[in-house]
Amino acid sequence: MQPIYEGKSKQVFAGSEPDTYLIHFKDDATAGNGEKHDTLLGKGVLNAAISNLLYDYLTKNDVDTHLLKVLSDTDVLVRQVTVIPIEVIIRNVAAGSFSKKYGVEEGSALKSTVVEFSLKDDALGDPMLAPSHIYALGLASDGDIARLTSQALRINELLSALLAKCGIRLIDFKLEFGRTSDGRLILCDEISPDSCRLWDAETNKKLDKDRFRRDLGGVLEGYADVLERLKAVLL
Ligand code: UDP
Repeated sequence: MQPIYEGKSKQVFAGSEPDTYLIHFKDDATAGNGEKHDTLLGKGVLNAAISNLLYDYLTKNDVDTHLLKVLSDTDVLVRQVTVIPIEVIIRNVAAGSFSKKYGVEEGSALKSTVVEFSLKDDALGDPMLAPSHIYALGLASDGDIARLTSQALRINELLSALLAKCGIRLIDFKLEFGRTSDGRLILCDEISPDSCRLWDAETNKKLDKDRFRRDLGGVLEGYADVLERLKAVLL
């Protein structure tokens, strides 16, 4: 079967029912908007398991998501959506591009939570978007932005609390949203150590994709640690 769409870490196929897609989690790891690439055997299974647990937890807490059914250890059935080409980034602690851009040491506390938007376009380097850019480019309405922001903050509260129980600090993360055929904006894509910065609460050890981006080693061990801690709290 040919994918309808192939991304850096996932393939999207037509689903078995109308208005659905099948998403397959791949073992590929990329960084620097695709410049660094590797295959990490078992990453797809780990990310699928982590993302499915987090989605299940969000659904139980009334967050509307695309997840319909877990089909296998790497495949899920999801509701078809038209993805809004905006990455919604939530930051609780300074790190990564925020630290670099604003000259703030990584790990510094922030006086309030940052919600930022960037254009989902690797070739352009995912440029940051102010609301007026979003309107000017016709990417979303002000009502959509209000909904993305409130959903992102709610998800941040839920995930931060859950991960705290696992002894993990949610430093920052990226969300994507899509529109259903009946016009609802719902959470889509994965939530995994590929898309979140997760630090051990006691040691600040990185348990996320920065281990790959920064050649720290132990990438899969970090992801497996996150999964085990989530299972211990959720299952
Ligand atoms: N992120 C992501 N995909 C992207 C850009 C960022 O999943 O295309 C996540 C990243 O893993 C981190 C957060 O969003 O948890 C903030 O990333 P940042 O802007 O600091 O970018 P980076 O330093 O990763 O280039």
